[in-house]
Amino acid sequence: MSLSVAAQSKTWTYVDGDWHEGNVAVIGPRSHAMWLGTSVFDGGRWFENVSPDIDLHAARVNASAIALGLHPTMKADEIAGLAWDGFKKFDGQTAVYVRPMYWAEHGGYMGVPADPASSRFCLCLYEAPMMPPTGFSIGVSPFRRPSLETMPTNAKAGCLYPNNGRAILEAKMRGFDNALVLDMLGNVAETASSNVFMVKDGVVYTPVANGCFLSGITRKRVLGLLEDAGVKVVEKTLSVREFREADEIFSTGNHSKVVPVTRIEDRDLQPGPVAKKARELYWEWAHSA
Ligand code: PMP
Repeated sequence: MSLSVAAQSKTWTYVDGDWHEGNVAVIGPRSHAMWLGTSVFDGGRWFENVSPDIDLHAARVNASAIALGLHPTMKADEIAGLAWDGFKKFDGQTAVYVRPMYWAEHGGYMGVPADPASSRFCLCLYEAPMMPPTGFSIGVSPFRRPSLETMPTNAKAGCLYPNNGRAILEAKMRGFDNALVLDMLGNVAETASSNVFMVKDGVVYTPVANGCFLSGITRKRVLGLLEDAGVKVVEKTLSVREFREADEIFSTGNHSKVVPVTRIEDRDLQPGPVAKKARELYWEWAHSA
């Protein structure tokens, strides 16, 4: 059975040993994931015949499953191999989002935790063009990132995202595209959908991973590429004020890789040369790896 919605882009999902086109129905009202949100996912990309760091995205979804009390049933290299099989179903032009997921069908004690033995896997691939590097605006969010004591921030889990969703909604209501979200101590963590960098006097800064935000695969890749290119990069605790006074701000994430931020609250910024350089380095690396 498919739950296709006309507006959905071309989609292929691998589940239980087969590929299915469209929004195939995989859970029901008794599924633990639908009831209590026990799902994890990862997001990789295919574009221009490359799928950068797909092995790391596959490995991370398995780590996320374990962190949420699920049992990963696939090896990371099997997930990556399946993704490459699936890419053949697309037109070879349009960028594809690569979303491996695990979820629980049943609960354990009192139905509350996941029963790991009921873990299921699917790999959902769908057309999703990348954002052009024209830039986006951010507003400082009144909502915060939780810490590991209050949410499973060590997993890329679906249950973390309603918080990110409300941050984006609040930012949109004030005319921004995305939100700059702080941690519980009031330091900058990330945007609601990506990691965030700033540049001051030629030095690149990004919030040091402190367990409350997703320390992304693209973040680490870009840090390494910039460093190898001779740019000074510093991971440290950063305040909103430092971001407000930055020469440049940009974000990284699998979705659109490196994209400049062109407004923070009431301050406009140029898409800067460091973001441009980081993006070029990423593309060069992606096509040579
Ligand atoms: N933070 C959040 C909240 C995200 O959703 C993403 C994208 N998945 C990222 C950061 C970037 O992580 P990655 O580079 O691993 O895609």
